[in-house]
Amino acid sequence: MLKKVLVANRGEIAVRIVRACQELGIKTVVAFSEADRDSLAVRLADEAVCIGPPPPARSYLSPPALISAAIITGCDGVHPGYGFLSENPYFAEMCTDCKLQFIGPTAETMRLMGDKVLGRQTMRAAGVPTVPGSEGELKSAEEALEIARQIGYPVLLKPSAGGGGRGMRVANDENELVRAFPMARAEAEAAFGRGDLLLEKYLVKVRHVEIQVLADSHGHAIHLGERDCSAQRRHQKILEEAPSPVVGPELRERMGRDALRGINSIGYVNAGTLEFLMDQAGNYYFIEMNTRIQVEHPVTEQVTGVDLVRWQLLIASGERLTLQQKEIRMARHAVECRINAEDPERDFLPAAGEVEFYLPPGGLGVRVDSHLYAGYTPPRNYDSLLAKIITFGESRDDALNRMRRALHECIITGIKTTIPFQLALIDDPTFRAAQHHTGYVAELLHKWKDERAAALV
Ligand code: ADP
Repeated sequence: MLKKVLVANRGEIAVRIVRACQELGIKTVVAFSEADRDSLAVRLADEAVCIGPPPPARSYLSPPALISAAIITGCDGVHPGYGFLSENPYFAEMCTDCKLQFIGPTAETMRLMGDKVLGRQTMRAAGVPTVPGSEGELKSAEEALEIARQIGYPVLLKPSAGGGGRGMRVANDENELVRAFPMARAEAEAAFGRGDLLLEKYLVKVRHVEIQVLADSHGHAIHLGERDCSAQRRHQKILEEAPSPVVGPELRERMGRDALRGINSIGYVNAGTLEFLMDQAGNYYFIEMNTRIQVEHPVTEQVTGVDLVRWQLLIASGERLTLQQKEIRMARHAVECRINAEDPERDFLPAAGEVEFYLPPGGLGVRVDSHLYAGYTPPRNYDSLLAKIITFGESRDDALNRMRRALHECIITGIKTTIPFQLALIDDPTFRAAQHHTGYVAELLHKWKDERAAALV
C-alpha cells in the first residue's frame, strides 16, 4: 500500500483526495502555490509544501517543483487530480522515473488517449463507434474541405490536444470552414502548445453521455454505468446526473461493453471515462477519453456506492479490484450542480471577493464537495469552481426536488455564485422532462436573462 501521497492539485479535488487518503491511513502532503497558502486542503493535510508563485506555469504545472516536493517529503505516490498535469504523460513518466507511483494510468496509455486523433483511431480499431470525421490530423484547409464535403455540414474543428471545451469551432459551410481553419490552428497552438486539428461532423441536438471505468493492474476491469452531462454552457458541463434519463439497462450494457473493449485493447489501468455523444435514436459516438478522475465523479459514487478515489489509490498500490460487474447497480438517482464564482446575470463574469458567510446545505441525501469556509478569499488565478452540491434520491424528481431545497439552503455571501441560474435550470420544464440536449442551456439562458430583465422594469 502507498504510505504517503503528494496531492498535486488544489481546490475541492485536493480536499477530496486528502479525505480518501485519510480513510485508508495514507499520509498526505498538499503541494500549494503562494495563492493557496490558506486553502482548506493545506489545513486538512498532514503536511504542506509551497511549490511556487500563483501562476500555474510556475507551480501546479511545474513538474520539477512538484516532484521535488514529493521527494523532499518522502512521498511514494502522486495524485494529480483533474486539470493541471493530470493528463500529461511526461509528468507521469517523470514520476515513475523518480520512483513515485503516479496515481493514474501509464504514460503510454495517456499519450494515446490524451490525443483526440490517436484516441479516435484506437477506439475505432477496437470497434467502438466514433463521430464521422477525419482519420488523422488535418494537414491543410483543403483536406478539411474535402472531408467536410463527404460528411456534410455543419462540421467542428477541434484541437487534438484540447480540453475543457476550449478552441473548438463550428463551420456551417465552406466559407466558414476556410475562415475558421487558421484561427482554430492558432488558438490551439496558443492554448495547448500544439496546433494539430481534427474535423468531426457537428452533431446537433445530442446528449453527452459518458461511461466510468475502473481497471486494476491484474487485468480486471469493470464499468460503473453512465453519467449524463448534457447541461453545458459553451461546451463546459454545469450540471451532471446519473443514471442518464435516456439510457436504459440494455443500452447501458452495450455502451459499457464497448467501453471495456476499448480500454482492454490498450491495457488501461486505474479510473477513466469514455465520453460519447448520443442522438435521439440512441446511437452513440465516442468523442474522447479522460484518463483521470473527473469533476462529476460523485454522482456515480452516490448511485453505485463505489468510492472511486479510494479505488484509484488501491489500484495504484497494486491491489486487486475486488468488485465484479454484476455487483454494480445504479440503484438511485444523483444530480450534481457545479457552483462557480461567476455572475450568471453578467454573462458568467468571474466574481471575486471574500466569502463572508458560508452555510453548506445538509440533511438526508445531500453531499457537498467544497474547499470553502467563512473568511476564505478564492484566488483569481485558477478556475472558479467553489463547490459541488450533490443530491440523491429514489427517482430523478426526488433528486431534483432535493437539489432545489439544497440550493435554497446554501448560503454563500460576499461573492456572486451561479446558484440563481442552477435554480432556474432544475425547474425548467424541458430539463425536468429530460428533453434537453447539449445546446439547450444556451437557449434557456437567453430566456432567463430576458425574464430577469423584464422583472426589473
Ligand atoms: P474537451 O476535451 O475540450 O472537453 P470534448 O471533445 O470532450 O472536448 O467535447 C466537449 C463538448 O463539446 C461535448 O460534450 C459536446 O457538447 C461538444 N462536442 C464535442 N464534439 C462534438 C461534435 N462532434 N458534435 C457536437 N458537439 C460536440
